[in-house]
Amino acid sequence: MVTLSIAGFDPSGGAGILNDIKTFSSIGSYGAAVITALTVQNTKRVSKILSLPPDFISEQIDIILEELPIKYCKTGMLYTKDIVKVVSKKIKEYNLKAVVDPVMVSESGYSLSESSIIKALKKHLLPRASLVTPNKFEAEKLSGISINNINDAKKAAKKIGEFCDVVITGGDLAGKNIVYIDGKIKIIKSKLIESENTHGTGCTFSAAVAAYLDRGNSKIKSIKDACKFTKNAILHGKWKTLNQFWMMHDI
Ligand code: PLP
Repeated sequence: MVTLSIAGFDPSGGAGILNDIKTFSSIGSYGAAVITALTVQNTKRVSKILSLPPDFISEQIDIILEELPIKYCKTGMLYTKDIVKVVSKKIKEYNLKAVVDPVMVSESGYSLSESSIIKALKKHLLPRASLVTPNKFEAEKLSGISINNINDAKKAAKKIGEFCDVVITGGDLAGKNIVYIDGKIKIIKSKLIESENTHGTGCTFSAAVAAYLDRGNSKIKSIKDACKFTKNAILHGKWKTLNQFWMMHDI
């Protein structure tokens, strides 16, 4: 299995493509990565972002698809609307199944996207996605619904579900992951863990879903297994971030 991450580079190794590759490897998938943007950051702050030209991103996708048998990808930080457009075009061209993490803001509170990205995600990427995995904040932005309780979250999931299947991750919803698949709402509960080791949680979850799907599992099973995987990665985390190698060894 080869799973592809199309995402940003976080030199701390906690989020972005480094996170995704560790997650893929831990689940038994060979990871390939197309970089969309470089960031200067640690778990506390993001001080600079340098996005790559859309043509360069497009060529990265072309050259690895020329050789590697990739069916599934996950997208993370895309940063600009032009990058969203080019990635969407390539997903269509290569008929890739995509798990979209609609990254907007880092856990440390810094913007990882231009404001025009929301419109571009809805217009170009979500209609081509297999699954989108927003957190509460991202779900509010994508649906235009402010989420104050589980009912609001269900409404938001249905609204986003007009584009593709969706799971609103439960970290800010008392551990309730709101899933809307094939027109049906389902709640998958995860135990909330008190931890300061959470940098990269959204990246780990979406990459895990993509890797489990790539292994041939159903969407529901992939989401449930990704919840367990992420919970364990947080439980074994260190240095403010997750440990995706929890099943093999401690870091
Ligand atoms: N992608 C990149 C490159 C990042 O640097 C970050 C956060 O810093 C994210 C995505 C989102 O991270 P999280 O999984 O914590 O939402």
